Amino acid sequence: MGVIRKTLNWYARLSPSHGISPPPYKHVVQIGDPTLRRVSESVSLEKIRTKEIQGVIEKLKQVMYRYGSVGMAAPQVGVNLRIFVMRLTDKQISDISAEVIKDRDITAVPYTVYVNPQLKVVDYQKVVHPEGCESIKFFKAEVARYNAVQITGYNPEGESICQLYKGWAARIAQHEMDHLDGKLYTDIMDRKSLCCTLWEEVNMAKGKVAIPFSPE
Ligand SMILES: [Zn+2]
Repeated sequence: MGVIRKTLNWYARLSPSHGISPPPYKHVVQIGDPTLRRVSESVSLEKIRTKEIQGVIEKLKQVMYRYGSVGMAAPQVGVNLRIFVMRLTDKQISDISAEVIKDRDITAVPYTVYVNPQLKVVDYQKVVHPEGCESIKFFKAEVARYNAVQITGYNPEGESICQLYKGWAARIAQHEMDHLDGKLYTDIMDRKSLCCTLWEEVNMAKGKVAIPFSPE
């Protein structure tokens, strides 16, 4: 309790004059932040090309790349708008074992921005695999997702786009869509599978492990 109090006091001392910028943030907000639980608002189509919306898209891209993640939704950088980005590069896939790539049906996804996305389930068969989230840092759990989905929406130029995803790419798309409706994987996970990804390090370091909430 003492530690919590100390943290809150530290937080209370911070104000914009101390260098805290308003959203979109350069960091990813964490579970407990009310922004992650709101249903995000649609972007009016005539506003997509405005500096404000382009700025949110650019920040999402920067944060996703900086964290090395495969998807990022606007609420995760503190903005309740229906925008998400996703990508899965060959380089990211090269770090995954051949067995896992095959088992989870992992394929490359080009960098894609969706404004006001809508999801249609194409294959109702559900697939269960471990899933993580930058907003629930250093945890993972087994989550069931549909095997194939279609996402329609608008690109940063305001043109309508449509893409079919299957396997792991479909999982990423479903995960990011959930963020726009204030949902997290912890709502639908197999609860007994929730696991701290650093549990072995905690034992090796006799508990002295710090979780970094930002890459640097
Ligand atoms: Zn997430």
